[in-house]
Amino acid sequence: MLDFDEAQRRLAAAGRHPETTESCTLSQADGRVLAESAAATVDLPSADNSAMDGYAIRHADYQPGLRFPIQQRCFAGQMPQALRPGNAIRLFTGSLMPEGADTVVMQEDCHEADDRVEVRQAPRYADHVRKQGEDMRKGDVACAAGTLIRAAETAVLASQGYARVKVYPRLKIGILTTGDELIEPGQVRRAEQIYNSNGPMLSALVRGLGGGIAHVLHAGDTQASLHEAFSPLLEDCDLILTVGGVSVGEKDLVKPAIESLGGTMDLWRVRMKPGKPVALAHARGKPIICLPGNPVSAFVVFTLLVSPLIRAMQGRAAIFPPVRRGTLATEKQYKETREEFLRVRVEFAAGLDQLVPYSHQGSGVISSLPWADGLARVPPNTVAGQGDVVAYYDLRHWLS
Ligand code: AMP
Ligand code: MG
Repeated sequence: MLDFDEAQRRLAAAGRHPETTESCTLSQADGRVLAESAAATVDLPSADNSAMDGYAIRHADYQPGLRFPIQQRCFAGQMPQALRPGNAIRLFTGSLMPEGADTVVMQEDCHEADDRVEVRQAPRYADHVRKQGEDMRKGDVACAAGTLIRAAETAVLASQGYARVKVYPRLKIGILTTGDELIEPGQVRRAEQIYNSNGPMLSALVRGLGGGIAHVLHAGDTQASLHEAFSPLLEDCDLILTVGGVSVGEKDLVKPAIESLGGTMDLWRVRMKPGKPVALAHARGKPIICLPGNPVSAFVVFTLLVSPLIRAMQGRAAIFPPVRRGTLATEKQYKETREEFLRVRVEFAAGLDQLVPYSHQGSGVISSLPWADGLARVPPNTVAGQGDVVAYYDLRHWLS
């Protein structure tokens, strides 16, 4: 049996960092990995500006009861004049600070009449001014190489004027489901058949990480069917994921199929529940990971063991998301001879997060998946129950 952490480390190292880069538009960059750090091209903000709708004054001019003449009304996109002593300039959020002004008084503290404004609350020096460069400085790394570009990174890159960025090619992943009992959703089902949930599930998991789907194929439990499916997969994919057919049953033909293609394969019994049979194979220099067939096992193994490898092959700098700690909130007790990963709902609490396990933890219980937002880790041969502190994997982080 292979230790869970060891399996995670070995799988993360099973693929190669991308070797080429390409350029794409910012709108095409969502879900891609930045290949070259993007430096800030301008200070952000690019000049001192107002954080409020209000009036710019020189702080030293303020006196209680004084009515400042309003020299200018300066709207967004207009240039302010230089402030004359004893005057005020009407400003709006984002308006540039006039030369000579040092303080903004918010309009709620002012009374305006007859082109004059009275400041009714003593202002504090430099209040409500956003300083040039307080967010980013020209030349700073605005977005580092190896970052997955999503909405937040897109905002930063756009704020720095980037219309195109250099990214790694999208990783091409192939999925192969196996099993004579499976039919595709939408087909008419006979009593002995079940719908293929792993194919659509794994496609969605891959896309969630920013990976590309080259093929989603299905093979029956025969050598010929598996053989046929592997040829386009090996042709077109950087990484292949197979599901099912890797235990030691009579119909577990994935291992012999890979070996007959000249591939090498390590079949591991990873000390984890769910998800014991996991295999790492290589054929024609490409990594193939064989996942257990139960959908919950496949989901858990993908999250914890496959996602770091995908991030590494995408060129991402951070391949292991953080592991958090939380407190189990349950009346049950959990104890296994393997690491157990409970599907839990994470509830915010004072102190550590509370982790509420789903009522049924069987590896066939698909309804536990949409319910859960974390996987709590119970160490082997340990009784864990109410109030025990355990590690947990937040699915928002581990599936992005
Ligand atoms: P196997 O490892 O092929 O014996 O599969 C283990 C269990 O997972 C069996 O009950 C299979 O029917 C089920 N299973 C395998 N592949 C899928 C799939 N793609 N969708 C749903 N269930 C599956
Ligand atoms: Mg099977």
